[in-house]
Amino acid sequence: MTSSASGSRRASGGSPSGRGPQRARTPRTPAARRERLHRVVDRLDEAYGRPVLASRLSPLGELVYTVLSQNTADVNTDRTYAELTRRFPTWAQVRDAPVDEVEDAIALGGLAHVKAPRIVQILQAVSERTGEPDLGELDEMSDDEALHWLRQLPGVGPKTAACVLLFALGRPAMPVDTHVHRVAGRLGLLDPGVSAEDAHAILTRMAGPDPVDIYAAHVDLVRHGRRICHARRPACDRCPVNDLCPSAFRV
Ligand code: SF4
Repeated sequence: MTSSASGSRRASGGSPSGRGPQRARTPRTPAARRERLHRVVDRLDEAYGRPVLASRLSPLGELVYTVLSQNTADVNTDRTYAELTRRFPTWAQVRDAPVDEVEDAIALGGLAHVKAPRIVQILQAVSERTGEPDLGELDEMSDDEALHWLRQLPGVGPKTAACVLLFALGRPAMPVDTHVHRVAGRLGLLDPGVSAEDAHAILTRMAGPDPVDIYAAHVDLVRHGRRICHARRPACDRCPVNDLCPSAFRV
């Protein structure tokens, strides 16, 4: 869609001049990007409701949950996690179980043949390093130390590590999934070509330091990517931040 065809810049407003919208400028400095992100989050909070950070799983539970969530809808991840923990009430039991039994327990979520050995490997690695399948020692580490520690585990990338730190421990770490990466890029918060991996540290600094704010930014950008700023054909005419977006009506 072109800007002239769009009519209005904001979903709730219009162009008073009738000459079409002015395109938002791309913020260039860290301060400008930070300010832009905070305005975007305020708007998305208004549109979708302010997300509230509250941990629901232990750090190790969150780590396993995040592995299960890969390429899986949230509802199926919840069911799969519930089934895994029903069949194996302790993480030591999962660690010591035959991999095909773990695979069977998580079959509902898909990619079980990949996720089951990964989960067992992680539990084994945690046990080797701490003596038991428990991540309690992260409490004694700085944020950077905890991030580094988690990244040493098999198959744990920056997104999974950030999920554990933010969701379970309330630490300042922004998980960057495909939605966060795409929407932040379109909003001009990331330079072109910045990888999702590199975006973790950039967006953590931009949204932080308060984990409450980082969580809100993360959830808002994910929801926005799912509901309006789709990978293909984003609905810019319905977007509550289209007057803040340099990509509006240009994707
Ligand atoms: S939907 Fe359009 S205007 Fe809104 S953030 Fe995405 S690209 Fe920008």
